[in-house]
Amino acid sequence: MKFDILTIFPEFFESPFSLGLFNKAREKGIVQLDAHDIRDYAEDKHRTVDDAPYGGGGGMLMKPGPLGRAIENVKEKSSNSIVILTTPAGEIFTDQTARELSEFDQLIIICGRYEGIDERVREIYVDREISIGDFVLSGGEHAAAVIVDSVSRFLPGFLGNVTSSECDSFKDSILEYPQYTRPEEYMGKKIPEVLLSGNHKDIDEWRRRESVKRTY
Ligand code: SAM
Repeated sequence: MKFDILTIFPEFFESPFSLGLFNKAREKGIVQLDAHDIRDYAEDKHRTVDDAPYGGGGGMLMKPGPLGRAIENVKEKSSNSIVILTTPAGEIFTDQTARELSEFDQLIIICGRYEGIDERVREIYVDREISIGDFVLSGGEHAAAVIVDSVSRFLPGFLGNVTSSECDSFKDSILEYPQYTRPEEYMGKKIPEVLLSGNHKDIDEWRRRESVKRTY
């Protein structure tokens, strides 16, 4: 899977994705992440990417030219690719969205800034609009990071053999059961007896019951 992020802050993506599972998957060639600076596609010497909105009003908007050129430059014609716009007006991102996006070979994610992007870029280039919740962020970078992280977990080999996304919350719309590790007693609270029983059938039943309880 190739993630191409279009942003005016490419450095935002350096630290979070050079750690942990994502970094391991990068080294194995399961994921590739390139953050592209939209300013590189500006045509003036000040590398301008924003301008005032027609009709007045506060704030600035991202100009269509640099953004459009950036999309056209990174889009791989041969690949199974999708252009995503991060926006509070989009469909709310869920586990199901992440599963669907993991089927593509290339995700191009546009990170808006200022008051957002020129509407014509949305009409011409965008395949799917995604919001990570009903609140307003200062930019799409945080939303893009959420999308990259959660989509990656569905890629074959990303989680290794230790665990599987099929055991995680939201599989079949159910949340994960409570989990415990050593010590057996912590601040007067003991772990549920059944987990020490060694009886895998009872443990599985207990976990299923607790998952349902937690979900409701
Ligand atoms: N004026 C816009 C509005 O009211 O809908 C908000 C623009 S916001 C300050 C700048 C950028 O942050 C947006 O273009 C978008 O890329 C990103 N953004 C803000 N909230 C978001 C959310 N809930 N989900 C995804 N992206 C978001």
